[in-house]
Amino acid sequence: MSNFVWCHGPSCHKSHTQDRIRGVKGSKVLRTKKVQQNKWNTGQHMSMYSYFCSQGCYNDFANTYVQQVIAIAPRTEALETPIEVVKEQATNSWSGHTYTETKIIAVDNNGG
Ligand SMILES: [Zn+2]
Repeated sequence: MSNFVWCHGPSCHKSHTQDRIRGVKGSKVLRTKKVQQNKWNTGQHMSMYSYFCSQGCYNDFANTYVQQVIAIAPRTEALETPIEVVKEQATNSWSGHTYTETKIIAVDNNGG
């Protein structure tokens, strides 16, 4: 017994791979791949790999439905992360040359 969902990639069934071939001689098809549901992609491990067989199928889905995806959480203004920029003199351990290293340090202003 196995628990699965069909890959949500809109073109999954068009990829020419042997593991998609189904049917008998004379009426063969390329079929959408199954995505097994297991402890690695369900519950707290839910991810794109819970619904897509590959990064390519995920990209196909995201590109096809980008307007609907963006509508879930539209970004109407820029977000900002408070930082501190620190310049430090550093020495290359190979050449011995000194250079200025720029460190970006996140600042937690208000616990958020
Ligand atoms: Zn797929």
